[in-house]
Amino acid sequence: MPGTETSGASASPAPHEAGDGTYLEALAKPLASTRGTGILPVLHGRGDAHATRGFARSVAIGHKLAHGAGRLLDLVYPRICPLCSELSDRPGRLICWRCFTRLPLHTVDQPHCRHCGLVPEGEAEGQFLCDVCRRAPPAFDMARTAAPFRSGVRVLLHDFKYNSATWYRADLTDLLEGALRTYYDPAQIDFVLPVPLHAGRLRKRGYNQSALLAASLARRFGLEASTAILQRFLATPTQTHLSAAARRQNVHGAFRVVHPEWVRGRTLLVIDDVMTTGATLHEVARALKRAGAWRVWVLAVARG
Ligand SMILES: [Zn+2]
Ligand SMILES: [Zn+2]
Repeated sequence: MPGTETSGASASPAPHEAGDGTYLEALAKPLASTRGTGILPVLHGRGDAHATRGFARSVAIGHKLAHGAGRLLDLVYPRICPLCSELSDRPGRLICWRCFTRLPLHTVDQPHCRHCGLVPEGEAEGQFLCDVCRRAPPAFDMARTAAPFRSGVRVLLHDFKYNSATWYRADLTDLLEGALRTYYDPAQIDFVLPVPLHAGRLRKRGYNQSALLAASLARRFGLEASTAILQRFLATPTQTHLSAAARRQNVHGAFRVVHPEWVRGRTLLVIDDVMTTGATLHEVARALKRAGAWRVWVLAVARG
């Protein structure tokens, strides 16, 4: 139900409880695609081709080849863990097992806002409604994030977003996958949508980092990800130094649902890389709800 934990949430192991290896090992294995009707323009890693230039391109191709041809090519293109500089021992991934299991992930048993997933800094117990959700409830039904925006996760996300480090895609998708299994029921999701970038910014950056993650995540669950449903048609200035209220004002009316017929009555999972106050995601959800979406769930890699 909207605004509540799904029944599967408590049954799934929390990411940090994966010390026995079963959960994390399951993550390393690609899932076969079981759904997918092909009725929508589906993302097939759109952005990759534009994302990598020069040195970045050669590294990306190297990783692609290494993943495809197995361990032999690992000798030519060694996968070095960006967090400890050792060779990675996770198949097809850059972060090694040791660093991966030490990432500070959010867990279901941490105190958190039951609506937006905020994990408070100070004293709190169980589930509660945070100030923002009490005073001005966000338009999405529920939001959750995999990890706090700090240490290793922050480094990876920054390079992924600004330095064309798209080779972290599988590692970051692992975090989203764990959180999706923990907090939501994938079987109830109709479409996976990334938070759109404005066309101008997309041209400049060459790729939408959230679209790459949405496509990878959707593929693992046999779901469809699409950038065709929702557009960002206002280029909004950076929100970094704005208050929560100013951020909402800043992005007001920035998104437009291009295909409401694909949204009406559906459950949509919106993917972002970093969630801060949730103002952007509120505005995305508002546009989707106005177009008739039944439920809007939000999932981001990190909460900053
Ligand atoms: Zn490592
Ligand atoms: Zn909240």
